[in-house]
Amino acid sequence: MKAVCTLCPRRCSLEEGQRGFCRARENRGGQVVCTAYGRLTSLALDPIEKKPLRRFFPGSRILSAGSYGCNLRCPFCQNWEISMADAAAPTTAVSPEALVRRALELRPAGSIGLAFTYNEPLTAYEYVRDCARLAHAAGLKTVLVTNGCFLREPLEALLGDIDAMNIDLKGFTPDFYRLVGGDLRTVQEAITLSAARCHVEVTTLIVPGLNDSESEMDAEARWLASVDPELPLHVTRFFPCHEMQDRGPTPVETVLRLRDAAARHLRWVYTGNC
Ligand code: SF4
Repeated sequence: MKAVCTLCPRRCSLEEGQRGFCRARENRGGQVVCTAYGRLTSLALDPIEKKPLRRFFPGSRILSAGSYGCNLRCPFCQNWEISMADAAAPTTAVSPEALVRRALELRPAGSIGLAFTYNEPLTAYEYVRDCARLAHAAGLKTVLVTNGCFLREPLEALLGDIDAMNIDLKGFTPDFYRLVGGDLRTVQEAITLSAARCHVEVTTLIVPGLNDSESEMDAEARWLASVDPELPLHVTRFFPCHEMQDRGPTPVETVLRLRDAAARHLRWVYTGNC
């Protein structure tokens, strides 16, 4: 029996046994199930600033978990080894209970809770939800690092279990989102919805020749300020990787120029990898 996944705008319509575009979900017996549930490719205790979050428990650390799969196809993906992987990826099985237990054990090391990151965590929506609920019940903080390209209903249902998010705003034109296989309006809606419910910071990776114009950054920052002028924005540098090896790293002066353009509208603008 066919099944339709209603997590993201792709709305994959799947035949029995067929996996979704994100490679983390599959039709089993007429139900879309998450094949990445509890299967971790990465687990590390990171500084919170690495998420990046600069205005949420600064100086703390957080147990950060990643799996495999992604619903976008950014040619410049920095984590492509896991985001483009599928169920054949080497993983470690970690139940929500075990993950929360580990996060609690790490409290003396400065950990405030759990972060879902590295690949696109929301393709393993059910795992994030189950872990986040348990983490909250145990008094831990929860952080989600996402591309934000997910539909309103599942996102809203999760927000009560999430304390902070970093959402990518990859560019500010429909063309840029076409390049990465996403949808600008969906991401804008995710930022607006989330910022009303939890702490949100936004990241834009500046790719030379693609989204490095001052006018695009001006429009982006102006829009973010219309959501909340206190929203922190991280403007970060691209380095050649994955399928994008045809250009050099973003010049530092470009990042600084765009930071200054964004700072005309937003109070908190940070640079990354400079
Ligand atoms: S989350 Fe995955 S399976 Fe679901 S619609 Fe998006 S790409 Fe398809």
